[in-house]
Amino acid sequence: MPLVPMRVLLDHAAENGYGVGAFNVNNMEQIQAIMIAATETNSPVIVQASRGARSYSNDNYLRHLMLAAVELNPGIPIAMHQDHGNSPATCYSAIAQGFTSVMMDGSLMEDGKSPATYEYNVDVTRKVVEKAHAAGVTVEGELGCLGGIEDGHGAGLSGDEALQHLTDPEQAEDFVAKTGCDALAVAIGTSHGAYKFTREPTGEVLRMDIIREIHERLPNTHIVMHGSSSVPKHLIDIINEFGGEMKPTWGVPVKEIQEGIRHGVRKINVDTDNRLAMTGAVRRVLSQKLGEFDPRYYLGPAREAMAELVKERMIAFGQAGQADKVPKTGLADMKARYGTA
Ligand SMILES: [Zn+2]
Repeated sequence: MPLVPMRVLLDHAAENGYGVGAFNVNNMEQIQAIMIAATETNSPVIVQASRGARSYSNDNYLRHLMLAAVELNPGIPIAMHQDHGNSPATCYSAIAQGFTSVMMDGSLMEDGKSPATYEYNVDVTRKVVEKAHAAGVTVEGELGCLGGIEDGHGAGLSGDEALQHLTDPEQAEDFVAKTGCDALAVAIGTSHGAYKFTREPTGEVLRMDIIREIHERLPNTHIVMHGSSSVPKHLIDIINEFGGEMKPTWGVPVKEIQEGIRHGVRKINVDTDNRLAMTGAVRRVLSQKLGEFDPRYYLGPAREAMAELVKERMIAFGQAGQADKVPKTGLADMKARYGTA
């Protein structure tokens, strides 16, 4: 089956009470790792590429890697998503490249750094929804600002500063009414990157209550958790054991994500954990086999380590076992659905 609109996966997840991990890709090994995990667990898949990934790997390479994933895995529904589009133009170019979902992040200005006004956010998101829906493509918006920086994108807020930019549930309701976006990324105190929290997060820093309230107000809008890597200690330990120097850090515990899934979270962005898993595997090989110079002998284990991590998340989020149950709804069907809505 061709790439599917992301909304199809999120609707099925909502109807059946599970969440779908969205994993970032920049290269072949990462796409392969995700597809290995998806096949072994029978999971629907969201693959996403940031602007940084698109320029690192080049749109054409990326598109053909995605088409290869589709060709090799006909039984797995795959959505291809633009992560953190900084402008309508970025989203339109993704749609032209065959992405079936885009994020218009109007919480920040086009520079991807300066917090934008609410009016600006509504305006750019509404514009993108109009064009994307006309093609059957899904749109994710963002309200509130997360901490940290991801691939050069982010206001660079510290954890404490990010707490001043949390999503306001009442505003979320207004935002969805005005823009018609399918999914909404919310700021609940998480940050991008490996250094999210300096201690295990409690209810004061990780505001799950905001998710519950948004879900009550907007039961048909899919909530997205960004900055949701769990940063497992054993992955940091492997990196440090083999010559790395990462400081102690805490991410979002998987049980908190599962709590979010019970209250409307349908898409969970995971990038940092995969980076940690791959880096640990590469460091291990290179420090144990000093004569090794064939990239396959360290990229192969890196791919395996990432596949293992992705598999764990797919099981924890509940998407495992669902791939063959997702309805075969394509872009044309969604186009018709939006047109008559
Ligand atoms: Zn993000």
